[in-house]
Amino acid sequence: MAEIKLNTFQINILLSPQEKDDFQFLLEKGVYCSTCKDICSEVTDYTVKLTKLNDLLVKGKCATCGNKVARVMEFGEDQAFFKKANKFRESVAKKKP
Ligand SMILES: [Zn+2]
Repeated sequence: MAEIKLNTFQINILLSPQEKDDFQFLLEKGVYCSTCKDICSEVTDYTVKLTKLNDLLVKGKCATCGNKVARVMEFGEDQAFFKKANKFRESVAKKKP
């Protein structure tokens, strides 16, 4: 399975309200900056990808120092999410000409 870059609209479709909370929590409290040697106060300019394992990979910048940061959110371990992600992949594949 390929990595798919997700836009905000697609993230909203893919994540349940609970998962959105988890996503937001990890984004705010779970991204480590190796330059600041601390959790990022905020991640800016981030992109989200659905990985091969149906996890979410967030890549962005640390708001404090501007260094690149990344975090894998292991949503793919959840079977319900994994199935939903596969359905999402099918729907995305169908849209392509
Ligand atoms: Zn930093």
